[in-house]
Order: sequence, then C-alpha cells, then structure tokens
Amino acid sequence: MTCRFRAPKLRIRAEVPRPEATAAERGDMPRIRQRTLGGLAATWVAGGALLTPVAPASAGGAAVPPPSGGVGGIEYGSALAPRGRPVASRFRVAPARVVAGSALPRILLRLDEAGVPQVRARIVLWPLGGRGRVVKLDLGRVRTGMLLRPAWPKGTTLAPGRYVLRVHASDPAGRKLLRKARAPGRSRLTVAARPTPPPATPAPAPAPAPLAPAILAGAAGTFPVAGPHTYGDGFGVDRGDHRHQGVDVLAAEGLAVVAPTAGVVRFTEFQADGAGEYVVLRSVTGSDYFFAHCIRSSTVVAESQAVREGQPLCAVGSTGRSSAPHLHFELWPRGWRTGAGNSVPVDPLPQLLAWER
Ligand SMILES: [Zn+2]
Repeated sequence: MTCRFRAPKLRIRAEVPRPEATAAERGDMPRIRQRTLGGLAATWVAGGALLTPVAPASAGGAAVPPPSGGVGGIEYGSALAPRGRPVASRFRVAPARVVAGSALPRILLRLDEAGVPQVRARIVLWPLGGRGRVVKLDLGRVRTGMLLRPAWPKGTTLAPGRYVLRVHASDPAGRKLLRKARAPGRSRLTVAARPTPPPATPAPAPAPAPLAPAILAGAAGTFPVAGPHTYGDGFGVDRGDHRHQGVDVLAAEGLAVVAPTAGVVRFTEFQADGAGEYVVLRSVTGSDYFFAHCIRSSTVVAESQAVREGQPLCAVGSTGRSSAPHLHFELWPRGWRTGAGNSVPVDPLPQLLAWER
C-alpha cells in the first residue's frame, strides 16, 4: 500500500501590498505627534466629553480652532474649545491568532463621540512584512455607542504573517479618530501557517519516539471504519525515503470513516499528490486523529465543527498517493504537526485494536 505524502502548494495567495495604502497608514502618525508636541497643559473636561488639549495662541498649536464668529466667545488661550473627536473605545480581533485558511477572526468595534450619533469609519489591515496584502473594510456611516461586528470583504484570505489593523474614523465635522494609549484604534493579528502533511522525501525519519501508552484513549471509542476491514502496512514501515507514520486499514470503498471519539474537526483538505482528501480531528482526549485517502468530496464535516463519537467524517477511498481503497490513520497525542518538538505520531495500532473490541 502506498500513501506517501508531499506538502501541497499552499492555497493562500501572496499579494504585494499596495503603496497608496502605505501613505494612508502613515498619514495618521505625524498628526498625532503634532498634537502631542504642541507643548501644552492638557486639560480635560469632566463628563466624558473627549476634548483636545488647546494651545495658547503663542504656541501656534495645530489643535486651536479658528474663532467662531463670536458665538460662544471662545478666544485663543482663554478657554477650552469643546471639541470632540471619535474614539475607538473598543477594537479587537478575536482570536488574535488564527491558522491560514481557517475561519477569519471576528472584529469587534465600538466608536464613541459625545453628541455625535454617526461617524464614517473604515478599517485597514496592514501586513507587517511577509507576503500578506492590504485589506480595507469600508464601513461607511456607522452608529456610535454600540458594538459593531464588521464583516470581512467577501473572499478575503490572509497569508501567514503578522498584521496590524487600524481603525480610521471621521465625524460629520471631519474630525479624525483620536488615538489614546488605552484606545489606540489599533489591533494586532497573527496568521499562522497551515500545517500540511510532510514532503514525500523527508529526511530519513528517526522512528518517532513513542510516547507512553498511558496517554492513549483506551478502549472507549469507536473503530474509525464502519464495516469489515483488515490491516495493511503498519506504523514505522520503511518506505525508502520515509517511514510510514500511520496504520493502513483496508476496507471497501465507500464505507463510512467515523469519529472514534467526540471531538472538533481541525482541518479538512485535499492533497492531490499525497494524503488525498483528509480530515484532522482533535479528540476530546486531547489527541489528534488523521484520516487520509477519503473519496473526493465525501467529507461531510466542516472545520471547527464539533462531532460526536461515531459521527461520519468521510468515506473510505483511494485519493492521493494510494493504490487501493483504505483508510490511512495516524494518532498524534500532542497535536497534529503543531511544529512543537513533541508533536509526533505514535503507533496507533494498540488504540485501533482497543476500539475493535
Ligand atoms: Zn498509509
């Protein structure tokens, strides 16, 4: 039985950041600095109104408004100008770390400005180096004082890398977002590379050190193939350029591959020249299970979906590098290809046999 995996091309598109966005992003910073360097005694009015410090006339501070035709009697240096500005009192992405190709994080935003019911807003996601591209969310006019959940533009994909998201807002008078230390209107996002099955020619594999059998799930659970089966190649079999990292369960094409335990689907993917159609399940035991070579498009679960024990995942097939219908099954007690040193597969046969009973 052959099931050698090669790392697939990442489906993430790499795009070059657009230069005009750079200018837009940088646009805010000098203005803020200008205000801070105004050299003034900042005074804040009680009552929650967000006010800009006002400079005495001699300072020539940029924050001083022009006299307003005598109405209100505000003069340079004589009083505070009651000027508000929008502020992003809440802005974050959750979770702040996602895996490329999985669900995009939610964006939570609340804009406030006393006495102003609506402001115009947009969010710009800016890659900090790497292959990411700029994404702009133009929110148009939004209500202040309420929690917003802006949607990502349709079809948005994020390349692995680090990003910063910045809110831009302006009120009807054209006053721009105030960035305070505790409400900077800025949030960070990390997109981790998606794990993939290994290349077909990895370094000659040291037989992965099996972890203690005590971490196995034991007899509780259901055999992952719902029907008659036999065993093919076992764990650690020499495949010339690598060692077999799982056990091949031979069964008729089309039999259901089921969740041995309850858990959450981590990945569903197709790797044409390797694992074929596969599913990665995070078991309630903490282990990850890897099911490969399923019939193309037979997967009936989605990433992040919770499944119960025995729930169908896909159907036994022979997609990818496979010469006959079988389930290639791997057991990763510390998570599937997390990159951590202890993320290694162990011989799943004892577990499979325990589930047979
Ligand atoms: Zn195999």
